Amino acid sequence: MSCGEPHQVRFPIPVATGAGELRLRVGTLEIIGTSISALATAFVVNDVKTAVDMGRCSSLLAEQETVLLTHCHSDHVAGLVAWLSAHTRRYEGSPTKIAVPAPRRRQLLDALQIWPDLDGVRRRIDLAEALIGARPGDEFTLARGGWARCFHTHHSTAALGWAVGGAGSDRPWFVFAGDGTVLPFADDPSLLDATIAVVDCSFLESGTRVAARLGGHGHLQDWIELLPRLTCDALVLAHLPAEATAAQITRLVGRVEEGPIIVPWLDPQRS
Ligand SMILES: [Zn+2]
Ligand SMILES: [Zn+2]
Repeated sequence: MSCGEPHQVRFPIPVATGAGELRLRVGTLEIIGTSISALATAFVVNDVKTAVDMGRCSSLLAEQETVLLTHCHSDHVAGLVAWLSAHTRRYEGSPTKIAVPAPRRRQLLDALQIWPDLDGVRRRIDLAEALIGARPGDEFTLARGGWARCFHTHHSTAALGWAVGGAGSDRPWFVFAGDGTVLPFADDPSLLDATIAVVDCSFLESGTRVAARLGGHGHLQDWIELLPRLTCDALVLAHLPAEATAAQITRLVGRVEEGPIIVPWLDPQRS
């Protein structure tokens, strides 16, 4: 993005929607969602009727026809039961698909097959058909000619990242790295080439870098060091700690001369 200014933390770019979600626009592209470390992550790419992760549900999330899961930790799937219920009732007959890392498909299906009082959902759709196991390199077709492609990430469980684009666009609109360390992106920074790349920044302060790596998470310093090699226009720091503030991130980032703009995924009103 040529913004005519030195590259630095730039906010407030995400704005609160009033429904507990934030909205970020870059050019004509928009994502809406929530991402707080250990509590809930769920994003919407409404243009292609797709959600990435479902740590919580909302009216907008319920509209989405495809859910791309990065992994099955509870803060990324806890809203799935509510989504299945709301989506299949309010939007009965519309596509209902969940792409899940293949090593977790069977367990997720078993859980949903026996979830209490989910009979209405089980009557309306075939869960075994709705759940699709995804492996790195797989491609999926989304609404309105959109597409999604998944890639390997490095977390503490079976996990995938997702690149999402629109009809006729080879370059992804968005990349959602999910939870995970910086390692796959240090090996291949082009994995994050997109208009907006959303990454795990669960740890901020110095002295927590080893803990981040051992826990399979990203650290702010990891992303600052990788910044000059990244070609995304905006790097969204997601999965931030609940207590993080924009002022804290500005202080820690300092001045960065190269690379994409940095957008912390937090409510700019919060101090
Ligand atoms: Zn998480
Ligand atoms: Zn996780």
